Amino acid sequence: MTRLLHRSIGQTLPRAASARGVYITDTEGRQYLDGSGGAAVTSVGHAHPEVLAAMRAQIDNLCYAHTGFFTTDAAEELAEKLVNLAPEPLNHVYLVSGGSEAVEAALKMARQYFVEVGQPQRRHIIARRQSYHGNTIGALATGGNAMRRQQFQPLLPETHHVSPCYAYRDKGNDETPEAYAARLADELEAKIRELGPDSVMAFVAEPVVGATLGAVAAEADYFKRIRKLCDHYGVLLILDEVMCGMGRTGTMFACEQEGITPDILTIAKGLGGGYQPIGAVMLSSAIYESFANGSGLFQHGHTYLGHPVAAAAANKVVEIIARPETLANVNAMGERLQNGLEAALGASPYVGDIRGRGLFRGIELVADREHKTPFDPARKIHAKVKRQAMARGLISYPMGGTIDGIYGDHILLAPPYTIEPAEIDLLIERITQAID
Ligand code: PLP
Repeated sequence: MTRLLHRSIGQTLPRAASARGVYITDTEGRQYLDGSGGAAVTSVGHAHPEVLAAMRAQIDNLCYAHTGFFTTDAAEELAEKLVNLAPEPLNHVYLVSGGSEAVEAALKMARQYFVEVGQPQRRHIIARRQSYHGNTIGALATGGNAMRRQQFQPLLPETHHVSPCYAYRDKGNDETPEAYAARLADELEAKIRELGPDSVMAFVAEPVVGATLGAVAAEADYFKRIRKLCDHYGVLLILDEVMCGMGRTGTMFACEQEGITPDILTIAKGLGGGYQPIGAVMLSSAIYESFANGSGLFQHGHTYLGHPVAAAAANKVVEIIARPETLANVNAMGERLQNGLEAALGASPYVGDIRGRGLFRGIELVADREHKTPFDPARKIHAKVKRQAMARGLISYPMGGTIDGIYGDHILLAPPYTIEPAEIDLLIERITQAID
């Protein structure tokens, strides 16, 4: 019996022993193509020599200095780099240790901002059904995924949920994308009005949904309308790019493709690329100024925030992602993956939708393609596909459950940005076999 508490108790997992490029090898010598980057984490591939060298150099000099006493070159350089890459007015960075911490810090930033500017009554958070923003209690309450929430009720009372932008399921056949986006924005506006416009603090959403629905991007007008609504009602827009940010969708930040900038942006996974646990919150100058001119302190902190080795690793990861050839490869290989999946699976009666952006692709599995009927959730089809893929030497990220209504079985594919054409073709071959 293992003494380690695994998430799925009793499940026997292979032991990962080493990794290089797009492959992980277990202690039995079996090689797995990392088709999902774990959970969309591995951005620049495993054991990238430049990242390893950057970490080694940092380890040789300094492993830890508490941020209550010191700042470090690594943390300062990372913040500078991120601000130079991000759209205005995201010009300050708060470093944390992962995605849930980033979302948690973002929520507290929004709360403190309204206290600093004399609107402490703004406390309600609106997010979307079927969303996931992390597992800490504030992030879990914000997420609208009923399956993850159910055991932990009551959660924070001031969290509310509206419909996600999920055209495959929810857009009417005769509805234009613009009309659909307008309908969703109207729903959000009605929720803001119901709660009382002066009491709403933030709207939280993922630009491209990852962890609950496989790679669902919004319709063209949606985020522009949402940004306008938030501005109109003085609500902060928090975009969660923990999964879809840092080049994953083909641009450094997913929101760039929506033509809008949030007030607060969370990033993690691809930022550290799996080399170190790290996340970050990017905040607008208005929020920064409210702290700087108000209490002079962001009332929040963790022992490991701004960890120098994590920051050094992320510095190099970001530098590699920002090279034009990296994002060019994300876009080219993303297109190859989409086209290949469509060719291999597009006619399958069990594949309802193949979608996504860059190297962030989702396959929605259905029992009946014509009527989009999901599989009986008791069959746990997504978990079976994951097992079948593992048996064929492929890591893919499964999602499923139907507690929120129709939610279905999804497979997320998110390989490292360094993947090559032959590896994309192998990924397609193995996932097709697994689904078959
Ligand atoms: N936000 C989103 C959109 C995520 O996909 C995740 C993790 O899957 C999180 C937050 C939580 O991140 P972490 O698991 O690093 O705490």
